[in-house]
Amino acid sequence: MPEYTPLEPTFTLLRSIRALMQSEEAVQARLDQFVEVIAGHMSVDVASIYLQRGGGSLELCATEGLDQSAVHKTRLESGEGLVGQVAYTARALNLAEAKDHPMFAYKPETGEDKFASFLGVPILRGGRTLGVLVTQSIDARNFTEIEVETLQTVAMILAEIAVEDERAGGDKTRLQGITLAPNKPENFKGKTFSKGLTRGYAYLHVAPTLAGKLIADDPVAEEARLNDAIARLRASVDIMVSGEAASLSRASKEIFEAYRLFAYDRKWVERLREAVHSGLTAEASVERVRNEHRARLMKARDPYLRARLHDLEDLANRLLRMLAGEMPGGGKRNTGENAILFARDLGPAELLDYNLKSLSGVVLEEGSPSSHMAIICRAMGLPLLGRAEGVLDQVETGDDVLIDGEQSTVFIRPLENQADSFDMRLGVLGEMEKVYEAQRDLPAITKDDRHISLQLNAGLLVDMPQLSRFGADGVGLFRTEFQFMVSEVMPKMQAQTDFYRNAIKSAGGRPVTFRTLDLGGDKILPYSEPVPEENPALGWRSIRIALDRPGLMRYQLRALLSASAGEHLRIMFPMVATVDEFIAAKDLFNRELGRARKLGYQLPRKIEIGVMLETPALAWSTDAICKYADFVSVGANDLMQFFFAADRDNARVSDRYDPLHPAALSILKFIADSAHRNNTPVSLCGEMAGRPLEACALIALGYDTLSMSVTGIGPVKAAALALDAGKLKAVIEPLLKFESPVSSLRDVIVEFCEAEGVPV
Ligand code: PEP
Ligand code: MG
Repeated sequence: MPEYTPLEPTFTLLRSIRALMQSEEAVQARLDQFVEVIAGHMSVDVASIYLQRGGGSLELCATEGLDQSAVHKTRLESGEGLVGQVAYTARALNLAEAKDHPMFAYKPETGEDKFASFLGVPILRGGRTLGVLVTQSIDARNFTEIEVETLQTVAMILAEIAVEDERAGGDKTRLQGITLAPNKPENFKGKTFSKGLTRGYAYLHVAPTLAGKLIADDPVAEEARLNDAIARLRASVDIMVSGEAASLSRASKEIFEAYRLFAYDRKWVERLREAVHSGLTAEASVERVRNEHRARLMKARDPYLRARLHDLEDLANRLLRMLAGEMPGGGKRNTGENAILFARDLGPAELLDYNLKSLSGVVLEEGSPSSHMAIICRAMGLPLLGRAEGVLDQVETGDDVLIDGEQSTVFIRPLENQADSFDMRLGVLGEMEKVYEAQRDLPAITKDDRHISLQLNAGLLVDMPQLSRFGADGVGLFRTEFQFMVSEVMPKMQAQTDFYRNAIKSAGGRPVTFRTLDLGGDKILPYSEPVPEENPALGWRSIRIALDRPGLMRYQLRALLSASAGEHLRIMFPMVATVDEFIAAKDLFNRELGRARKLGYQLPRKIEIGVMLETPALAWSTDAICKYADFVSVGANDLMQFFFAADRDNARVSDRYDPLHPAALSILKFIADSAHRNNTPVSLCGEMAGRPLEACALIALGYDTLSMSVTGIGPVKAAALALDAGKLKAVIEPLLKFESPVSSLRDVIVEFCEAEGVPV
């Protein structure tokens, strides 16, 4: 039997609020009762509710203790006065002498001059500030920690009730000029990171709503539920800690242990229990404690501290999942069918935490087009709109949503005629799909007889059926780290072997090019923690980790060798900057090959070891690397990021430079020419390969193999079939001579394609 000590006065206050929630009163009457109950239970002279109006000002909507005539008259601009300050900072303000605070703004109509002390807490819901809840007292005193705590809990409940009321009540019960939950049709411009049109229902990555789950019926049972969920959470963290990863290095063990420390942190658990003792449900308690962390997370500047708080946020999410009945280590987040996921930003591992089959699109307030999360969306054919600023303030779970990737716009709660014309366009798009389907079995041969091999960028087994569905010639890039990212624990060698064997099998004889683990940068394992670095993209990542700590890569190479017994094995090493790095990596492979031979294992029937060319330094060593590598695959995402010195994950700069800049095309041409001179096969597997216009330019520069996301195959094949590559080459090449300051050849190539009838 769990120990249970009700926390006064919150507990009795919540009881009274609960009774209030069941009343059928109109909104204003409910707010009036609310402040009366708060003032009574907390023994304060004033309790007031200020709610946000359109435009950000705050209006006094109910008060006990201030002059009633000020209700719906007193307004404060955002940041004005103490109330505005609480809303602006989203933090509690506890003052013994309110008048002494520099932000104090006197509103005579309220008659508040006789009250010395002030406690204001933000009314928060899903990261939005809906208003401010205030208590005041005549005597000059600081409110106690418990009082602050209590008021914050009440504010959270108030937020839920107010929004639910508004949704359920219709116009009659709405407070004039105040809209708490968004309800009008809205549209937001963003950037299309993964193409497509789609319609579905909004699902918020961080769900604000706890409707119906706020105040516990039976606090004893509630604490038992919380304890049970915490025990299961700890078990799941223990599984992570005892996973194979922990034995790899001391550093990773320490990271896992740090994570475990949080799960066992007495303070965190105590805060949760206190919240339950105050009468909240277990879910509301998690939300309540998490809200505090979130406020701190937003403010923290120190990256180490931010990472720590991020861990706590992650633990809270896991705990909520446990409370919803999930078992340790099991299962994906289920959104319901046709969900459009909304988030501020998402890492690749967070996206892969969802059951992707139920998602029909993703909308982010931030994000960047060449992040790995965007790459996964393109690989899955999942429309993704990024940088839709402000969208999270206007969307609620369950809203009808349209993503228009052509106009880079998301429509929330669309008007009927908008939805109708959208549905018509969806129909037309379906027709285009049929055209791509019809050309599926045609080889991609240009008008001047160049045979272009179109391959797929893959990373998960679900990608593999796309090979035959879209008529791709093989997998030009298999991002092996994705298996590691979707896993709760580090995949053991047997799991890796089975996975690679499956991938090879499902390719049905087409070549599969495995890229060895490319971790670091934005690719972070859920069970591991990035080493804090100033510039992760330029830091200890990828082949650098593999060469410094060869254990993990040797296991991977061993798994690849055993998965491809009797098959064709193609491996490439990522992020190589110097030829000797490639030689060292190849030595590791040869050691594994020697071992397999010595042990009498069946070997692959053919082995090719290639290199990804992703750094300018290696570009200028193409002749040299071609002497050692069996093939070269240009990783244009990274190559362009380093070439233009523009972080691919930084929304401000990631698309500042066009890969069709003459300087970029020159380096790409230089690489292709050098490789051809050395008779080394060269391909390109960055995102630009999947865009028809860029693909035409690459073909004209001499690239015969392009590897891309699945959505690119149809459009790029249609373009290649209509292209005279020699003619385009004659247009582009003279323009690469740097004689003019043009920053892109895009317009020239578009004009060419339009004149030639090439669909781009
Ligand atoms: C690239 O850098 O172009 C590439 C294909 O690899 P990734 O996007 O996985 O870094
Ligand atoms: Mg790369």
